[in-house]
Amino acid sequence: MSDTIFTKIINKEIPADILYEDELALAFKDISPQAPVHFLVIPKKAIATINDITEEDCGVVGHLSFVAAKVAKELGVAEEGYRTVMNCNEFGGQTVYHIHLHVLAGKPLGWPPFSAKLK
Ligand code: AMP
Repeated sequence: MSDTIFTKIINKEIPADILYEDELALAFKDISPQAPVHFLVIPKKAIATINDITEEDCGVVGHLSFVAAKVAKELGVAEEGYRTVMNCNEFGGQTVYHIHLHVLAGKPLGWPPFSAKLK
């Protein structure tokens, strides 16, 4: 798998507004926020899509949700609530092929997040 922009952020080759970092994961603000609070949580291991998650990755993928909640609490949005989203491939709207959990907060979020048409 070729490097994505997120590998460059992990390696500090390009700047990001980092909110949290540990040995497994990194959280940073989305460059194009879609809500008053919008950050991404990524594994340091480069996994292209949800389809590429292996059994051995399950721990780190679960860790992403733990970090999402930890940062949401630190930002003071955990109690009012937030949404986590992980897009997969073209129809899912994925543009960066290094899995990432979007965390959106700071206002009531509509549901469903797309046109309700089934076709
Ligand atoms: P997705 O469309 O689910 O793959 O989401 C990719 C997300 O990465 C988008 O919300 C982008 O705004 C965000 N993004 C792309 N480049 C950067 C960057 N350099 N720093 C922070 N967020 C970025």
